[in-house]
Amino acid sequence: MSNESQAGDKSPTDIKRIIGRYGGDQNGPTVVCVAGLHGNEPAGTLALEKVFEKLDALKPPMKGELIGLTGNIQAITCGKRFIASDLNRQWNPAYLEELLASNSDTQLGPEDREQVDLHHAISEAFARATGTIYFLDLHTTSADGPPFVVLADTLRNRGYAMNFPTPVILGLEEQLGGTLAGYVCDLGHVTMGFEAGRHDDPASVDIHESTVWVGLLASGSLQQSDFPEADRHRAALVEACRGVPRILQVRHRHHVDEGVGFRMEPGFVNFRPVDEGHTVAHDNSGPVRVPERGRILLPLYQSQGNDGYFLVRRVRPFWLWLSALLRYVRFDVLARWLPGVRPHPQRANALLVNPRVARWLVIDIFHLLGYRRQAIEDGRFVFARREQTPSNGTMSVAPASNR
Ligand SMILES: [Zn+2]
Repeated sequence: MSNESQAGDKSPTDIKRIIGRYGGDQNGPTVVCVAGLHGNEPAGTLALEKVFEKLDALKPPMKGELIGLTGNIQAITCGKRFIASDLNRQWNPAYLEELLASNSDTQLGPEDREQVDLHHAISEAFARATGTIYFLDLHTTSADGPPFVVLADTLRNRGYAMNFPTPVILGLEEQLGGTLAGYVCDLGHVTMGFEAGRHDDPASVDIHESTVWVGLLASGSLQQSDFPEADRHRAALVEACRGVPRILQVRHRHHVDEGVGFRMEPGFVNFRPVDEGHTVAHDNSGPVRVPERGRILLPLYQSQGNDGYFLVRRVRPFWLWLSALLRYVRFDVLARWLPGVRPHPQRANALLVNPRVARWLVIDIFHLLGYRRQAIEDGRFVFARREQTPSNGTMSVAPASNR
């Protein structure tokens, strides 16, 4: 499948960082939508253009403000995912701080310059905020399939995502280091990544448009009574996701190293069920088989990217209820005293788990509490999780405080 998109014939001067702004006269939530962080995913920018056109025509009252921003302008002009580095994998605070401190533009790569400029636009939007900040990151995938929400697993993000009638994937955001949504989430804001469908499918534009309207209604910026099309947009999302479980959790990620010749078998769409041992791809060392039963997500059908595929599985409502309860009673404080578990000596939001002592149940409990395994240090798993409480609501390069 081609990695190129129809947007490839634009020049950088045709594409503006700020797609549009609406509202801002009344206090209320700020909804920031970013589209095109990957340059071969034009659907989000086209959808935002439609939203702003409609807002300008209808002029409904809005509490707070909606801002639409373009991600990787240079990559969009070439129709490529990125030019030199993935703009949605380099938002760790230390790296950003380095970029912002750099006073020599010539030393920065193309995505570094995009990041500095985009950071500036986001900071301005956040600085004007008079209420809760909601951040929506709009993407598409190289495979076909129903749309879905990708969530950094905090209770506030869960609460917002439940307003969308779309499958929600837990544990995926945590697997992808350095995402913009992850960075904004760590600042204490409500964030959501949204995958609308295949990159060049015109339906992906409509799905993204419906998502933005539902997101505005869910944030309280827009009232249903002022926007007669609300039901139609909700119904469009329901229809697009028919037959897919509501909440799923990542069970496995297949990492692809440079030059291993990874080739996904043709015909996989997002959420396609597979049995244990099913061959889903080949690389230079032979067939790639799934380690357990589940559903395929984000199969790699483009040349750029390191995630071969993900395996997800349904989470039953009981576990969601239990996990919300465990977080509510701050079970994480008690979890530190479970056998084989101790706090990480340097990181406040991380725990060290000895896999020889801790039972699988312990690891399942950590998942429920929003912890994901990030690394192995001295034979111990490092489990870490996102901030669960909002910080001061401003955009800064410093990580959120250690609460
Ligand atoms: Zn993307």
